[in-house]
Amino acid sequence: MLKTDVLIIGGGLAGLAAAKALEGKKDYIVAERENRPGGLAATVRKGGFSFDYSGHLLHLRWPKTSRLILDALGSNCVRLRRDARVYAHKSWTPFPFQANLAGMPDKVKSECVSGFLKAYGAAGAPGAEPEVFSRWTRRVFGEGISRHFMLPYNAKLWQYPLERLTTEWCAPFVPMPRPEEVIEGAYGKKTEGLGYNTVFHYPKRGGIGALANALARRSGGLRLGLEVESLNLKAGVANVRHFGPIHFKRLINTSPLNDFIAMTEDAPAAVKRAAARLRHNTVYVLNLGARGVTETLHWGYFPGPEFPFYRAGLASNFSKQLAPGGCASFYIELATSGAALDLASAETAVLKGLKACGLLRSASQVVEKLWLKIPCAYVVYNRERAEALPVINAWLKSKKTPSIGRYGAWKYSFMEESVKEGLEAAALLLKK
Ligand SMILES: Cc1cc2nc3c(=O)[nH]c(=O)nc-3n(C[C@H](O)[C@H](O)[C@H](O)COP(=O)(O)OP(=O)(O)OC[C@H]3O[C@@H](n4cnc5c(N)ncnc54)[C@H](O)[C@@H]3O)c2cc1C
Repeated sequence: MLKTDVLIIGGGLAGLAAAKALEGKKDYIVAERENRPGGLAATVRKGGFSFDYSGHLLHLRWPKTSRLILDALGSNCVRLRRDARVYAHKSWTPFPFQANLAGMPDKVKSECVSGFLKAYGAAGAPGAEPEVFSRWTRRVFGEGISRHFMLPYNAKLWQYPLERLTTEWCAPFVPMPRPEEVIEGAYGKKTEGLGYNTVFHYPKRGGIGALANALARRSGGLRLGLEVESLNLKAGVANVRHFGPIHFKRLINTSPLNDFIAMTEDAPAAVKRAAARLRHNTVYVLNLGARGVTETLHWGYFPGPEFPFYRAGLASNFSKQLAPGGCASFYIELATSGAALDLASAETAVLKGLKACGLLRSASQVVEKLWLKIPCAYVVYNRERAEALPVINAWLKSKKTPSIGRYGAWKYSFMEESVKEGLEAAALLLKK
C-alpha cells in the first residue's frame, strides 16, 4: 500500500511548484495522469517541429516566481518584445485595437473614436454587480470599439452569451487606454506598453515544455501515468486507475475543480451541486509547419466572423528552434462551447483565413500539422460561478484542502500564477 504525507493531484506547473517547495521537507507524491509533466504547459514534437498547446508565453510579474522560473530555465531563455496585431476590415493594426485604430478604415476609426469619447463623457457607473461583458464594454469603450472588436472577438473566444458573461477577469487582461491614447492611436502614434503581455520570456530550446521538464527533473516525488479516479478526504484515500489506493495525510488539488468535486466521495450534496454549475469552453489548436513564411508577427487577433479562429500566432518567431531550417510554425486557436469540432472542414476554413489575411500564400506551403485539443480551456465567468465558488471553497477550507492553479481554482490565470499558488499552498501546509 502506497502512503504519503502529501498527495498532489496534477503535475502541471501548479503541482510541480508545490512539489518544489516540499522537496526535502515533506514526503510527497505528485500523481500526474499523463506520461509527461507540464499539463497545458507542455510541448509535443512532430516531424521536426515542436508544438505547444497554443502560444504559451511567460509574462513574469512577481519577484519570487520570476526568479524560480528563470533559474529553472537558466541560459535556455530569451526575452522578447511582442509583435501582436489585430486583423479586422481586411487590415492589420497593432494590438491593442482600442489604442491603435490607425490601421482601420476611416469610417471604422471615426465610429470607434466618437463612441469612445461619448462613453467617456457619459462616465456611466457600473450596473448591478457583477456587471456583464456586453454592458461593460459599451460603458467603458463605447459602441464602435465594442462592435468592431470587443464583442465579436470575445463571443468567438468564450463561446458563451456576452449578456451573461461577467467581468471579474477583465482588469488584468483588457488594456485600458486613456482618451488621449485612443485619439493619438487613431492618428498613427503607436501606443506601446499597454497590457500585461508587452514583453515576454520563452525558452530558447524545447518549447514551453522545457520549463516543466526542468522543474520535473528536480522533483523526486513525481509519478507519471497515475490518474486519480476517486477519493475520500475524510479517509485520506485516493484511488488511482490501474494502480490502487494511495493513502495521504494532506492533499493539494490542481485538477479541474468540477471534476475534482465530482470524484470526491465525501463532498456534501450542496457542494456537488455547486460544482456541477461550473462552465468552461473547449479550445482546439491547429499547429501547422510551413515553408517560405517571412512574417515577423508573434500573434494576431481575429474578431471577424469570416475567420473560424480567434487568434493565430507564429511560434517559430518566439524561437527558431521550434521549426526545422527554412520552415515556420503556426498555432491557430478555435473555440467551441464543448461541442466536437469537425476538424477537416475547420482546417479548410483555417487555411482560407490564413490566405485571406496574408499569413500564408498557398496551402501547398504546409508541410506538417497537428491538432491539439484543450477540453477545459477558459473557465466561464458567470453568475453561477460567482455563487458556486464560495460554497465549494468554504467546504475545501474546512477540509484544509487547497485547490489551486488555473483549473483547480477555476479562474482565468497564467502560468506564473499557477507557480505562485503552488508555492503558497505548500508553504501553508508546511506551516501547520
Ligand atoms: C489557449 C491557452 C493559451 C494560454 N496561453 C498562456 C500564455 O501565453 N501564458 C501563460 O502564462 N499562460 C497561458 N495559458 C494558461 C496556462 O496554460 C495555465 O495557467 C497553466 O499552464 C496552468 O497550470 P496548472 O498546473 O494550474 O494546470 P494544468 O496545466 O491543467 O495542470 C493540471 C494537471 O493535472 C493533471 N490531472 C488532471 N486530472 C487529473 C487526475 N484525475 N489525476 C491525475 N492528474 C490529473 C493534468 O493532466 C495536468 O497535467 C494559456 C491557456 C490556454 C487554455
